[in-house]
Amino acid sequence: MNQRTIKKAIAITGIGLHSGEPVDLEFHPQPIDTGIIFERSDIEGSAPIPASAFLVQDTMMSSNLVFGGTRVGTVEHLLSAIAGLGIDNLLIRVSASEIPIMDGSASPFIGLLLQSGFCEQDAPKKFLRIVRPVRVNVDDKWAELRPYDGFELNFEIDFEHPAFNKDYQHAQLQFSTQNFIEQLSEARTFGFLQDIETLRKNNLALGGSMDNAIVIDDTRVLNTEGLRFADEFVRHKILDAIGDLYLIGYPILGRFNAYKSGHALNNLLVREILSDENNFEIVTFDDNVTSPIEYLPLKGLTVEG
Ligand SMILES: [Zn+2]
Repeated sequence: MNQRTIKKAIAITGIGLHSGEPVDLEFHPQPIDTGIIFERSDIEGSAPIPASAFLVQDTMMSSNLVFGGTRVGTVEHLLSAIAGLGIDNLLIRVSASEIPIMDGSASPFIGLLLQSGFCEQDAPKKFLRIVRPVRVNVDDKWAELRPYDGFELNFEIDFEHPAFNKDYQHAQLQFSTQNFIEQLSEARTFGFLQDIETLRKNNLALGGSMDNAIVIDDTRVLNTEGLRFADEFVRHKILDAIGDLYLIGYPILGRFNAYKSGHALNNLLVREILSDENNFEIVTFDDNVTSPIEYLPLKGLTVEG
């Protein structure tokens, strides 16, 4: 199984969740072993910002990278889409300090990247295989990765709130491109009305609306169209985790279990794993061995734009 980049450059415009202003986003193919890198198109000569867990500086509402004083915020939904499609090498140019929020899910990014199509590159795809369990916790929240032949995610949330049905607060995903696209990519971010009002008073979330988030008041979901899945909240938490975990620098082979985790704890887990080389190994799969993760065949994914 080989590395993958996109076939041709492609662009999209959305709005920034915090600024409320239009943000231009461009994707460009990259050579073997580049990894995922960001660049600020509004700052002349800005250095590339690698998608690395060690550059995550604040996790207030999203995962935000800061490198040499330059910031690219709200990277997790885009990184989740990139991980979902198995893209190894990509340059993302963005015209502001945050990735546009689009509809609050990963689906618009998936649509755009599929339009570009994919190129298989002449070098083996590298995976990070978890070889011993690693767990982090803060208060009653925890997250862990365990050895597993594939990539499985189990997530549980625990909201005491009438909008959160007790039966729909746990979800499991066997990671594959198809499962990602069908079961996860459309799950939107969510927020509570009273938090959004507080954020607005502090000049944050100015672009936030029911067009890009599920908004919940004291009793119910306010979006007239309702939820996309009965368990959309926990599916979105898995979507976030896949994006946060991709900051480890490779697709992961392991089982991720989490209880009430979020961006901060996901980042702590990644740093904890990378802090000791005995926790993991980097592996590749040659042509004769089936990879434990199923990315759709390139031709199956390519939509000529
Ligand atoms: Zn999210």
